[in-house]
Amino acid sequence: MASPPKPPTELPKYIAEGTPKQNDATLHALRDWIDELLAYRQGVAAEEITVEGNESIETVEESSDGTVVIKKVSCGKENCKCQRGQLHGPYKYIVRRKGEKLNWDYRGPVDK
Ligand SMILES: [Zn+2]
Repeated sequence: MASPPKPPTELPKYIAEGTPKQNDATLHALRDWIDELLAYRQGVAAEEITVEGNESIETVEESSDGTVVIKKVSCGKENCKCQRGQLHGPYKYIVRRKGEKLNWDYRGPVDK
């Protein structure tokens, strides 16, 4: 007899145990809902991207992984050149939704 597929190891126990108990219709609905949740998290519109007053957005590009933002930043140090308008960067970030907030995932410097 075939054995049921193993759940992903990172899955919380209550989901790993509860999911196989659902009927087919619920599982299909669950899959659709998960797809919608992923699309919602990744779908951060360019208009939603805001930065601190002393930062500068170079580009905003929506992608399937999330919204790619290239920006220049200030380090906040008092005597740094960035305090006189010479910002650091540009740096790349992937912005995704995390609950109600936006999560900025730093991806390193970008060549000009
Ligand atoms: Zn600085």
